[in-house]
Amino acid sequence: MVPGEPLQDPSDKHEEYPPIQCDACRSALESPDGMPSFLLIDQLTVPLVGCTDHLKQFKSVCGYTTTATAEILNHRPAGGVSCPSCHLAPYNPQQPVIQVQDGAVAVLACPEHQSEIITRFHAGLDTQQRLTAQFDASS
Ligand SMILES: [Zn+2]
Ligand SMILES: [Zn+2]
Repeated sequence: MVPGEPLQDPSDKHEEYPPIQCDACRSALESPDGMPSFLLIDQLTVPLVGCTDHLKQFKSVCGYTTTATAEILNHRPAGGVSCPSCHLAPYNPQQPVIQVQDGAVAVLACPEHQSEIITRFHAGLDTQQRLTAQFDASS
């Protein structure tokens, strides 16, 4: 991105986030009554909403940031959500979503864990890109 570059006319778009291209993610995000999935990574249990494919991608990217295994559960984990604030975090349509390729995943966690998981996701992406770049260079 070029600093100082004028933004495109903001008046014709009110969306804060780019449109989600993945229909399955979009419908998952639009029907918050559905049970969220849960990302288990290290000590964290984070409720997530998105389609199965993009949740899996999200999980594998976050997996780069741990030596343990990241896991997606499609049901509430047996021990519940360890953080009470995450447990109570309500779904809200203004929920920040994280873009995962052409899909998007909403993190239904307390602000603290939300930013932790977003940080991990970005760190994971960096790692993934480095690995991909190495792979490309050698092929
Ligand atoms: Zn999707
Ligand atoms: Zn929390």
